[in-house]
Amino acid sequence: QGQLQEYFSNLLNSFTNLIKSAGAGAKVFELLGRRPRIKRSGLIKLTEVRGKVTLEHVSFCYPSRESLPPALDDVSFQVSPGNIAAIVGPSGAGKSTIFHLLEHLYEPSSGRVCLDDVEVSELEHGWLHRMLALVGQEPVLFSGSIESNILYGYYHRLLEDGGESGEGLQEKKQRIAIARAVIQDPKVLLLDEATSALDSESEALVQEALEHVMERRTVLVIAHRLSTVSRADVILLLNKGRIVEQGTHQELLARPLPPDGGLSYRTLLNRQAKALSDPDALE
Ligand code: ATP
Repeated sequence: QGQLQEYFSNLLNSFTNLIKSAGAGAKVFELLGRRPRIKRSGLIKLTEVRGKVTLEHVSFCYPSRESLPPALDDVSFQVSPGNIAAIVGPSGAGKSTIFHLLEHLYEPSSGRVCLDDVEVSELEHGWLHRMLALVGQEPVLFSGSIESNILYGYYHRLLEDGGESGEGLQEKKQRIAIARAVIQDPKVLLLDEATSALDSESEALVQEALEHVMERRTVLVIAHRLSTVSRADVILLLNKGRIVEQGTHQELLARPLPPDGGLSYRTLLNRQAKALSDPDALE
């Protein structure tokens, strides 16, 4: 708890400085290790956004790992406006990398990453980040002093509450991220479902808030819960940077197991069912 307290205290100091300084957006990225690696922002701001998300033959290597296999290898899929896509797969499969490319933090090595059929590299960076909201396990900022101030207020309260009881910090952090998404009112929600256990009451509150924020939006969710995956319009099973299966829960369950013993949705579910006592946890 002391460490957490120190962490938030440091964060709060950093935010105070950031809000005072110009160019806060870039510094926030630096602070959170999510500095965009792109060289320039596009110019386009669409007048109306439907929220269609497309990746076409996308391959990508992180700049620091060019000698290693790509983080994404010829990945193609489409999510229709208002639909939910659940991204599943083992650790290191490339799930978060899809989010990084959609946020245009990096350029793909090849292929196209599009919002409403326009490549994200052509879209104005700040505008793009108002259209996409990331609800991760940690709240993340992009830019904008109004937003920074709102969050500054939330952090103040968080420190007070968390400092007194030391309980429910994870829930509060998630609720901040969700609140931020509601304020932003994005067309596309990028959701990284928490793996950390919340008590059931907090869990229910977070789920309720999530249901609300998912309405009328396109949602891409890195899913860890069977309840999320089974209701998704499309499931994307990633392994080693490639999409190995794509379809609905029912479609994927009806598929025969791969003859080579490779990863499939059914093997993933079987593995989880055996490994975990929690029947609703996926990975
Ligand atoms: P997890 O479930 O563990 O979060 P993931 O499926 O989201 O995994 P990614 O985080 O997308 O997987 O990682 C894909 C590959 O890219 C991994 O080999 C990972 O080590 C690497 N990688 C991820 N982020 C970075 C980064 N910022 N810089 C360099 N390599 C990275």
